[in-house]
Amino acid sequence: MDYEAIVVGAGVSGLLSALALSKEGKNVLVLERDGEVGGNLRTYEVDGWWVDTGLHAITHVDDGPLTKLMDDYFDVIPRFLPYGNYHIRTREKLVVFPWTMQAWVNFDVLPQNDRFQLMSILGASVASSIFGSVDKNQSVYDFLKNNRFSDKTWRFIDTFSYFMSGKNMRKTPVWRLMKGARYIQENESEFIGDKVVGGIANVAKLLAYDGSYHQAYPKLGAGAVTDCIVRSFPKGKVTVKTSEEVKALDCRDGKVVGVETDNDSYASDLTVYSGYMRDLPGLSGEFDEDFRESVGSLEQSTSITVWLGLDEVLPEFDYMGAEVWFEEGKSYWGMSTSRYNQSFAPEGKQLVGFTAIIEGGRESEEKALIESIYTAVPSAEDHVEFRHAQVTIPEKAAITVGSRFPGQKAPLDGLYLVGTDTDIRSMGVTRAAFSVVEMLKILKGEGRLT
Ligand SMILES: Cc1cc2nc3c(=O)[nH]c(=O)nc-3n(C[C@H](O)[C@H](O)[C@H](O)COP(=O)(O)OP(=O)(O)OC[C@H]3O[C@@H](n4cnc5c(N)ncnc54)[C@H](O)[C@@H]3O)c2cc1C
Repeated sequence: MDYEAIVVGAGVSGLLSALALSKEGKNVLVLERDGEVGGNLRTYEVDGWWVDTGLHAITHVDDGPLTKLMDDYFDVIPRFLPYGNYHIRTREKLVVFPWTMQAWVNFDVLPQNDRFQLMSILGASVASSIFGSVDKNQSVYDFLKNNRFSDKTWRFIDTFSYFMSGKNMRKTPVWRLMKGARYIQENESEFIGDKVVGGIANVAKLLAYDGSYHQAYPKLGAGAVTDCIVRSFPKGKVTVKTSEEVKALDCRDGKVVGVETDNDSYASDLTVYSGYMRDLPGLSGEFDEDFRESVGSLEQSTSITVWLGLDEVLPEFDYMGAEVWFEEGKSYWGMSTSRYNQSFAPEGKQLVGFTAIIEGGRESEEKALIESIYTAVPSAEDHVEFRHAQVTIPEKAAITVGSRFPGQKAPLDGLYLVGTDTDIRSMGVTRAAFSVVEMLKILKGEGRLT
């Protein structure tokens, strides 16, 4: 059977594409190499505990691209709960992340001198973004290196670089940190040549803004977003084949006319690819050198998430939101998902996840992360009755200085690209959704969707 569209990959970007195309009237085939759909956005049960694939806070839930796609195409909408706050954990206390200038003044986790330097740099950079003088290719480290910060402050900056981009402060562009904290808005018009431009409204955010305000967690777990997409597929319009890896693109005269898997070949004049961009040149010899160089510039990070099931609800994790540990050992990002939904843990117990970027072997990195957790929260060690680890690639491309994201139109006719390694805006699910919205705009512009 010929399909009107083929989607390669059934992560959130592939599934959102399949939903949108089917609701726009197309018969869609989705091919996924794993045994199940969802990619990085799943929730599953292990021994009575319900874990997500990694920790998830969905950003821009009130005004972002996922909301637009939900409004336009979803029949079943996930129930989102307010995320809560980001906290910094030290050996002594848990403090709310300082989003505003006022909060920085009181943020005594870092030495006072360093804080004052950071505040004045932050103010100056938001101001200079208004005049278009923030350089797109400057790293966080290069931007700050002339300051005499303490080691602790450098660790803090490095930790946040990892969380915002997946890479350290020498590889993370400074604009990524500013956008991640929403000191500069996330929309495309803010890149002009090699400069990043912010609006005057951003100055107000420095004075009064809580960056966690626009974030949410799906009550039924991260995988609820995936489930709602699949449940919104119009009857009979979407065929999903799992355990079927696309091994080649079928190209004729510079045009993609279908795909090949181990089992079969499928024809369509519209293919949406949501697998890894770095793999794409391996699927066809027809990509030009510029495209190969662009996707070759993309780097990835690997993360480990350790889930701990605790035999009781600990007061140390009695907050909504997340915590970041940066003081020593492995920096991590932690959150208790059973705070949002008690049924993720057996009655009276607590599920807490901790994610860190890894650069070494799985076993040693898992051990280092667990040591850090027990250093940060010593009481946890005596209460662990369940442990589950996941090693994943959180974004298909980290945002690094010099990375060139290819966008959504491939240089071959009939081929469109979606996923976190095609769009440079935002992070995670929001970035995946941005890519799908953009791809739909292109298809509409080409008259391929009415
Ligand atoms: C630890 C961790 C923490 C995270 N935290 C957050 C967060 O807080 N907020 C947030 O928004 N996001 C977060 N994310 C990221 C978010 O989960 C991902 O960005 C998003 O799910 C990626 O969607 P995607 O469709 O681009 O890619 P993927 O989920 O990677 O999907 C790609 C799919 O394509 C399939 N595929 C690849 N090649 C082929 C092929 N040749 N043939 C067939 N199938 C193929 C893969 O098997 C996969 O299923 C986190 C992820 C992790 C792991």
